[in-house]
Amino acid sequence: MTKSATLKNVLAGAEQQDDDNKGYQEAYLGDHISFTMKRDNKRLWAGDNISDYLNEVDIEQLIDEATPAFEQVLDRLLIDRENDPNSNGTARRLAKMYFNEIMAGRYEPAPDATAFPNDSTDRYEGMLVVRSELRSMCSHHHQPVSGVAYIGIIAANKLIGLSKYTRIAQWCARRGTLQEELANDIAKEIMKATEATDVGVYVQAVHGCCENRGIMAHSSLTQTTVLKGAFKDDQGTKKEFFDNIKLQQDFAPR
Ligand SMILES: [Zn+2]
Repeated sequence: MTKSATLKNVLAGAEQQDDDNKGYQEAYLGDHISFTMKRDNKRLWAGDNISDYLNEVDIEQLIDEATPAFEQVLDRLLIDRENDPNSNGTARRLAKMYFNEIMAGRYEPAPDATAFPNDSTDRYEGMLVVRSELRSMCSHHHQPVSGVAYIGIIAANKLIGLSKYTRIAQWCARRGTLQEELANDIAKEIMKATEATDVGVYVQAVHGCCENRGIMAHSSLTQTTVLKGAFKDDQGTKKEFFDNIKLQQDFAPR
């Protein structure tokens, strides 16, 4: 989504949210938001989108609130962030990076995916497979996850722009995720945006938590597959999807 589209969405709901987040009793806006969400029985796990409860102005304040918390982490790790020029300012960089980049998909509303009608007599009825490059982060260790999602749909009554598949997949990925959940989330959001019931999502990724620590694997690939509708029930459709993935991989290995 463009910055201005994000801002437009935010402004549309800003008045209501401003009222909600004004005059709270808690010491931190972050505590107020989590209190409000828990009161409403809303989940705020690392992979959940919580954009209904905050706006862009709130994010600036949340970054301000997270900065001293990261400073404490650095202090507890015995890193001299005052005198080490490379660690000076790291706490704020971390706070900004979490909110604006590696976890942005938790705080930003869904990408604007304008749908175009696909309901004429000569409409496209075939399979569509899109390759989406992903960067994510594992919830367990906050280590990077990088890989590719292959998203397949049988075109239904609506089509969305080709780049929107990737925008949606990246919005799902830029959170704390498990790869299994990520593949499910992508399938769910693609079904929502396209109203297609026949959807397949295949994700292959490498995980920092297996490469940089623990088993220190340098060539371990994790694969997850979510199949809905004909992709699950029809062997021909399933085969066509995986044949297409092979053709995609010939075109762009990894
Ligand atoms: Zn991990």
